[in-house]
Amino acid sequence: MRVLLVEDDNRVVEALVEALHRAHLTVRRVGTAAEALTAFHDADLVLLDMGLPDQDGLALCRQIRAASEVPIIAVTARREEAALVSALRAGVDDYVVKPYSPAVLLARIEAVMRRFGHAPVTPVAEVGDLRLDHQAKEAFLAGRNLGLTRKEFELLSMLAQARGECVTREALMGGIWDTAWVGASRTLDVHVSSLRAKLGQPGLVQTVRGVGYRVAVEEAQGARTGTGS
Ligand code: CA
Repeated sequence: MRVLLVEDDNRVVEALVEALHRAHLTVRRVGTAAEALTAFHDADLVLLDMGLPDQDGLALCRQIRAASEVPIIAVTARREEAALVSALRAGVDDYVVKPYSPAVLLARIEAVMRRFGHAPVTPVAEVGDLRLDHQAKEAFLAGRNLGLTRKEFELLSMLAQARGECVTREALMGGIWDTAWVGASRTLDVHVSSLRAKLGQPGLVQTVRGVGYRVAVEEAQGARTGTGS
């Protein structure tokens, strides 16, 4: 499921993206209303900060609502009744008042998506010839079951959800081992190595030096032709 995160505060974004990835949601983040207006068409849900630098959140919400039925959850620092009433009238489906916990936000997302008939997690995700079955926790490359362990699957899943964007080491360690302890860093490297070996295409999971890892989407798309002929 694709979430468009409209939020200008970088400090908020970092923790939030991590929590959303952990819930196997694909996140695209924009920091302005202008960008949001071009990006919402591709989203299954919009998480909208009402305090944006270039436009009033309510006006943005009305503009999106005029063009689309996409579920919108407003994130606002204002808890007065009048502000919340205005947000609902502008077309938001739910709202969360800052500061909030990621767990509460995820529960709200799930509730809204249930109302819209979406499963909270895409049961099967595909990136090129890479196919991830989140219910069975199995991954396939060009039809071949990779036989991943649970941790290897979670690692590949987080990378695949980012669709070619880099996922930081901290986000991976936090998402998979629920920790940022130093020892997990080595554990992460070991799992990346074993995952690459099972993929049989070492270039599919690329190292972004000093930052983290990414899936080479272009290689995932070439997997079938690469091994088939
Ligand atoms: Ca803001």
